[in-house]
Amino acid sequence: MRCAIVGSGLGGFVAYATLRYGGIEPEEIVVFGDEADPAGAWRPRAAAIRQRWMRSESDGHCYPTSFPGLAVREAARRASLTPLLRSVTDRYRPTVAEFLHHVDLLRASCGWDESFFPARIQRVRAVNGGFELDGYGRFRHVLLAPGHPGLARPAELACDPRAVHAYEPHDYAPRVAVVGAGMAAATEWLNALEAGAEVTSVRRREPARRPLNVARPLFTKRGLASFHATPAVERAELLKGFGAPSYPPGRAWDAPLEGAAREGRFHVAAELNGAEQVICATGFARGLEHDALLRRLVEEHGLETEQRWLVLAPDSTVPALTDATRTLSLAGVPAQWAYPAADTLVGMKYAARRFLGKLERCPTR
Ligand SMILES: Cc1cc2nc3c(=O)[nH]c(=O)nc-3n(C[C@H](O)[C@H](O)[C@H](O)COP(=O)(O)OP(=O)(O)OC[C@H]3O[C@@H](n4cnc5c(N)ncnc54)[C@H](O)[C@@H]3O)c2cc1C
Repeated sequence: MRCAIVGSGLGGFVAYATLRYGGIEPEEIVVFGDEADPAGAWRPRAAAIRQRWMRSESDGHCYPTSFPGLAVREAARRASLTPLLRSVTDRYRPTVAEFLHHVDLLRASCGWDESFFPARIQRVRAVNGGFELDGYGRFRHVLLAPGHPGLARPAELACDPRAVHAYEPHDYAPRVAVVGAGMAAATEWLNALEAGAEVTSVRRREPARRPLNVARPLFTKRGLASFHATPAVERAELLKGFGAPSYPPGRAWDAPLEGAAREGRFHVAAELNGAEQVICATGFARGLEHDALLRRLVEEHGLETEQRWLVLAPDSTVPALTDATRTLSLAGVPAQWAYPAADTLVGMKYAARRFLGKLERCPTR
């Protein structure tokens, strides 16, 4: 059997580790991607916003089984119960360094580099018994994990020399305006204040304060079943709501902002002021129309969409192109229709496990 993963980021990596755990050999898997480092797309974005702690909890890792998570591993390594105690109260966050270290270890042990092939796939074409990927032959089972289709920038700032995206490398000018009000924006307010800047938060609406973008029940079987039973239009509205700006509640965020506001160093405004630097904490372009590969897949195969989402089965497969003998799955952000938190490590595992299940049940395996 030959199967393919398109996209060599964390989503592709989680899928690969899961296939290997399921007994699929490296020579049976081809991973197509731009770079061999599975954290290669993620690392510079996290570094740009000086992310020190993961947004995810103990289960936010790339190992194929959820347990033992990063809290258990850290507790064992440090001979300390603290990570476990924090984990049971949902307060454990691994450091970015810890996370990247586990990516390196897993990469070295799972055979990833044997399967990696440096190529950007332009076209996925359904053929008898599988899928043609450009000129690279036919694959019976394919998982697409192309990640986000690019950074989003407000049109009015496209040519503004003061503007930099939060996920691109940057320092901080003495007077900084941060556009946006989600997690990246909140991180940038604190970063710029810590660097001594005066900060204006430019926002069109007040951010929600919640620990995770996606409501916690949607990580459970029951919550997910009710999401899957929701009619399409309503489901798209729910997904839009999860994309609205939010950052976690807590003193760690509020205290520095309140202190800076008292000193006259933190302001909120609806419009840009004359700041020397404008940081666009405006996230990513949204929707499959921004991804050339997915757009072409949808157009050429007449696939069902709802607003900006590709309609998927609950198991994260493309229903019209998946049957007992072949599988087309999505993982990462384009798989939100099946799993609202698809763009998290937990969401990547959801898609990966179901992909492996399809392979295991395939009669021509
Ligand atoms: C700053 C930041 C912090 C985050 N922190 C966390 C966190 O703490 N916990 C958590 O669970 N999630 C977190 N996330 C969310 C998520 O884990 C990341 O977005 C992650 O990078 C998504 O992985 P991915 O593989 O889907 O996409 P990416 O990491 O972007 O990888 C996609 C890869 O596919 C390649 N590709 C695209 N199209 C093609 C093609 N046609 N052919 C071949 N290759 C292609 C791309 O070049 C890229 O290498 C964070 C996201 C950001 C931006």
